Amino acid sequence: MPEIKIASLSKFFVVLLLEDKPISGYDIMKELEQKIGVPPSPGQVYPFLKELKDHKYVKLSSSGPRDKQVYLLTDEGKKFAERLSSRFDSIIELAIKPKLDKCVECRCEIYKGGVRVKINGKALDFCCNSCAEHYAGKFLKHP
Ligand SMILES: [Zn+2]
Repeated sequence: MPEIKIASLSKFFVVLLLEDKPISGYDIMKELEQKIGVPPSPGQVYPFLKELKDHKYVKLSSSGPRDKQVYLLTDEGKKFAERLSSRFDSIIELAIKPKLDKCVECRCEIYKGGVRVKINGKALDFCCNSCAEHYAGKFLKHP
């Protein structure tokens, strides 16, 4: 059987959710809505779950007092999720890399919460105050 093609972020989220814990179709829909902000269409989620099931990546099992049907990843499904995650990791890296600032002083990447300081009229980004002070110290003339 050819590999399942994941062309949408919501499908990727479904796999992430399944990787986390056994979960019902209904809870998948709820979590997706929370994460993406719009209600997913059942016409997208359920056929995808069926596709995963046809590939034997998930199986249905019942849990809880009301015998709720939950999907859980099989060993094959876990491998599939790993392949998918590593592929998405590189996509995400490609997507965020150009937006990352590097600390002018230590060259580390600043994801968030950096310090922006104006030195000689130029706004420069640093990872932390001590880098900013250290860098500025090289430029500021001591009286
Ligand atoms: Zn730094």
